[in-house]
Amino acid sequence: MNCRIMRLIQLTMAKPMHVLLVEDDAVLADGLARILQANGMLVETVGDGALADQMLQRGLDVAVVVLDIGLPGIDGFEVVRRLRSRAASLPVLLLTARDAIEDRVRGLELGADDYLVKPFASAELVARIRALARRASPHPAVLSLGRLTLDTGAKRAHIEQRALELSVREWAVLEYLLQHAARVVSKQQIIDAILPWGDDLTLNAVEVYISRVRLKIADAGISIRTIRGFGYMLEQSA
Ligand code: CA
Repeated sequence: MNCRIMRLIQLTMAKPMHVLLVEDDAVLADGLARILQANGMLVETVGDGALADQMLQRGLDVAVVVLDIGLPGIDGFEVVRRLRSRAASLPVLLLTARDAIEDRVRGLELGADDYLVKPFASAELVARIRALARRASPHPAVLSLGRLTLDTGAKRAHIEQRALELSVREWAVLEYLLQHAARVVSKQQIIDAILPWGDDLTLNAVEVYISRVRLKIADAGISIRTIRGFGYMLEQSA
């Protein structure tokens, strides 16, 4: 099976969850990132506490933070403390090599949501991350227009009974348009909404995603109207 098909299958199963992995042991970080990616997650890895803190301060868009305690820069406890001092509710899973009860208690008291003691089974890490993400979004919305339904909790899209296969970015574009149905949105607004890590995405790329999404929703009784020189509007077809 080629990579493209594999990836498509992965993406149609669920919209990938974005995870920030803060771990200074490069070998461990690499191994964990691979495991999470194999489980359909998008992983940003950072090996320094101060850098992780900066990224979180800038409002990095992730669903869960997996945070080692012993880190260069500032330690995991301090990263959590700063995060909570900004009233951020982002779920945090602490990783610790230390089995000491005091460490777990301290982490939880500072506002971490859960912890895992190294070494742990990769399946447990994946399950804990998923559980934290689920807890953090208790009210997933079901968005619909025309014959299209987007279940943002289950991350499934349907045109009536037929499942719709969408890539990560196609999903993000469609979800954003649906959230703003019957309103005009600019290309820049779409870019801002769909970019997880502030990677570079051109206005032309947005056009490409829009045209792919258009093809996929052609029989959904809705259409994406181009507002020339500005952006798009999702509306019910006449
Ligand atoms: Ca460490």
